[in-house]
Amino acid sequence: MRKFGLLAVAAMTLGLTATAVLPSTETTNAQASSIKVVWRKAMGSHTYQINTSKAKNAYAFSSSFKHVFKLSNYSGTVFYTKQHEKIKVNGKYSYYYYVQSADKKKAGWINRTYLNSVKIMSSSALSTAIKNGTDLDPSSTILSQNSAFYNAYKSTLEKNFNLMSTSLTHFSSKGQARVYVESSAMKTYAQNAMNTWNKALGKQVFVAGTAKSHDIVMATKTSGEWDGLYDGAHIYLSTNYLNDPSYMQSVADTPEIRSLYDQYETVKSEYKAETNATKKQEYYNEGTKLHNALIAAQKKAAPSATDYWSGVLTHELGHALGLDHTPYLTDIMYAETSDDGFSSAVDGKYAWNGPKDPNDNRLESASLSQRDVDRAKLAGKVGLW
Ligand SMILES: [Zn+2]
Repeated sequence: MRKFGLLAVAAMTLGLTATAVLPSTETTNAQASSIKVVWRKAMGSHTYQINTSKAKNAYAFSSSFKHVFKLSNYSGTVFYTKQHEKIKVNGKYSYYYYVQSADKKKAGWINRTYLNSVKIMSSSALSTAIKNGTDLDPSSTILSQNSAFYNAYKSTLEKNFNLMSTSLTHFSSKGQARVYVESSAMKTYAQNAMNTWNKALGKQVFVAGTAKSHDIVMATKTSGEWDGLYDGAHIYLSTNYLNDPSYMQSVADTPEIRSLYDQYETVKSEYKAETNATKKQEYYNEGTKLHNALIAAQKKAAPSATDYWSGVLTHELGHALGLDHTPYLTDIMYAETSDDGFSSAVDGKYAWNGPKDPNDNRLESASLSQRDVDRAKLAGKVGLW
């Protein structure tokens, strides 16, 4: 009864043009016989979205006039036209478009009065914008398009800006995730990391959760393989490294450290290959000097534990937001290689085996680069959070 009543209201609002409100209950053969296709033809591809204020209780139909999906559930979805038809329902004529969603998951006949034509950037214009923009950093133009654009180009944008298309959604419809910090040793670092993202994105994306009610759990785990890990539900810090104060020296990463390390490795192999005792001693002395200089540089550049672990958690929360790695040392989402250790397949824009900005310092704190922030904003727009 309630359903019928709402339908009647919709028809009145639409006035004389609302002749094509098909029965909302399962169409029977008898009802179908009162609908006649006058003509049905192919049509060019035009871009539409559902006008949800008009289509509150309307459906898309199959060619045999059966309900396929409720239009109000697809408010942000972009549809492309394939065919059109003129039909006669109870003596009145109306026009329907056969449309398919941009992700090809939904298709059906929709009364054209429920469709709004949308203009979105062409795919060639998008390619040009990506090509002319900063690598892996979505421009302000890309970040200021309509929802139809993000819907239509979701996979292109994910690929070109290294977003994780398979990202699990931790986020509520409000775009918020509750983080429960199980380990007290992580509390300060977790708060810093959450604040960093919330501030950069201008909203409370990460809020405090409890043991009973949360979307993401932060905990510690034993591992010699990684210092931080995101597994889709948890963010772990390794107790092996968390409890090792000397670990801070080994993570220090500056151009000076990398240069000293390379020189030291070269001298070490020359020392090993040398057979002349005098020369071998010279290599030994030079190697010792370089080694001492390397240790001194590492000590000098070692981040504080708070900076480093807050940075690691910021990186892991970046994964939770749908960000994959980049080859830029200056990004919180930096990784030395595109191979994540689980699979060698490249899901992103390209593969890499070393930093693209080797003369820069690696971010060792919870701060974000412009690229990190722009990518996170884009991840939100394509629906990853
Ligand atoms: Zn990572």
